[in-house]
Amino acid sequence: MPHSLKLSAAAARDLGVDYDSLEYWTGCLQKQLRIARCRDCGYWIHFPRRICPKCWSAEVGVEEVVGGGRLYTFAVDARATPPVMGVVELDEQQGLRVPAVILAGDVHRLTLDCRVELTWISYNDMPVPAFTPVDKGR
Ligand SMILES: [Zn+2]
Repeated sequence: MPHSLKLSAAAARDLGVDYDSLEYWTGCLQKQLRIARCRDCGYWIHFPRRICPKCWSAEVGVEEVVGGGRLYTFAVDARATPPVMGVVELDEQQGLRVPAVILAGDVHRLTLDCRVELTWISYNDMPVPAFTPVDKGR
């Protein structure tokens, strides 16, 4: 593993860090959600790949996203920790979806398509992205 990425061996193994996802995880260490993006056509790509699936360019880099989105789907398992896993569609592009832990005070108030925002949780001492609903009252 590149020594620029300081992860515990357990975290690296569990998270499946590889060459393509190295920038993603390096961003996580700095609490930046970095998503692969084609430098030629601007298409956002997740999970990270070295070739753009839209235009086949190999000029793929990473950019930090703002962290807003909508809850595309979710599943609740009250016995699990964490109890809610979901998929968030990021504002940057229709269909740009990231799986993540959903932090909800009351899971019964979660609805499909609700607004969520990025936050960070710790997993084996590694910051990983999570999302929390945005209160409409705020
Ligand atoms: Zn492209």
